[in-house]
Amino acid sequence: MSNIIIDSRFDSGSIDVMTVHQASAMLRLKHDKDSEFKQWFHFRVANCGGRELVLKIVGLNDSAYPAGWPDYNACVSEDRDFWGRATSSFDKDEEGGTLTIRYTPTGDLVWFAYFAPFSTDRHHDLIAECASAEGVSHRKLGETFDGQSIDCLGLGEGETQVWLYGRQHPGESMAEWWMEGALQVLCDPSDTLGRALRQKCRFNIVPNCNPDGSTRGHLRTNAKGVNLNREWAEPSAERSPEVLAIRNAMDETGVHFAMDVHGDEAIDAVFLAGYEGIPSWSDEHGERFYRYQRILERRSPDFQTAKGYPKSGPGQANLTISTNQVAERYAATAMTLEMPFKDNADYPDELQGWSPDRCKMLARECLGALLEWLESDEG
Ligand code: ZN
Repeated sequence: MSNIIIDSRFDSGSIDVMTVHQASAMLRLKHDKDSEFKQWFHFRVANCGGRELVLKIVGLNDSAYPAGWPDYNACVSEDRDFWGRATSSFDKDEEGGTLTIRYTPTGDLVWFAYFAPFSTDRHHDLIAECASAEGVSHRKLGETFDGQSIDCLGLGEGETQVWLYGRQHPGESMAEWWMEGALQVLCDPSDTLGRALRQKCRFNIVPNCNPDGSTRGHLRTNAKGVNLNREWAEPSAERSPEVLAIRNAMDETGVHFAMDVHGDEAIDAVFLAGYEGIPSWSDEHGERFYRYQRILERRSPDFQTAKGYPKSGPGQANLTISTNQVAERYAATAMTLEMPFKDNADYPDELQGWSPDRCKMLARECLGALLEWLESDEG
């Protein structure tokens, strides 16, 4: 039998092929350029011929998040539209930590990825569709090292300045699926939730803060190997033009409510992180975040508060992180939304795990919670 053929020369593609034998292969992750981070993969397998593929990604104990591999199933697609999960198992004692993916495709060709990819083309389709909708404006906030645009959509006639932005960490593609869901609500003139929010708010939406990292197939950094979510205290044209452009635009509008959308490699749940420990912390300011969190928890079975990140102690907040900087700088109600790469363990989906559709449904719930949060503040 002939060997399978593995390649990754396409948008967000990334894998290092070590050996191939018939329908089996040994693979390694690539590092983000000029960076220690490695976790994202996206490749295709050709010449499958109806055989069971056995793909081993080795050396994972020194990946960015080793805890991301136990109980993780790789994403797989045969049409690049529907992404299911391929049964995978992790053995930390095999070849420096090995994820073994087993899958029998129906055809000759199949794609694998760390999470359902959100391509550069799909980003431009989304921006074009929204920018042509009634009452939606588009601004290019800035440019990346690779010459890509930082796109920002503006909509709504209200006074509450809302910033929604995602994919500072480009491998967290679930963030842009969430953005697509949010924009569907907000740009649809027949959607009452969107209409009510547009009356109350001015939305500034950056669906992808890190297009270079996205196109290059990075997990966590831009084209210079910089982690953008550690640049918010002192963004610079030399290291982080993406953050500099977005923060400058925020300085112009001010910020009342901000959500920075991410994915978490290890935790099998959806959760929020707030801004405990910022210098100007007050219980009243913090309560605005906690109130939003309670509303979202009541509305969405996919959201919970038992699992999440430890809170910073008084004065200990890291102001290089976007949520802390935005909360401190603008006295905003700011938060980081984290979705799982694995699944929501409370409501597992064997076929797809956490999926693009669930990202979009969660976005709608987050917006519903925002409307309720605004209305209950008035009442
Ligand atoms: Zn992240």
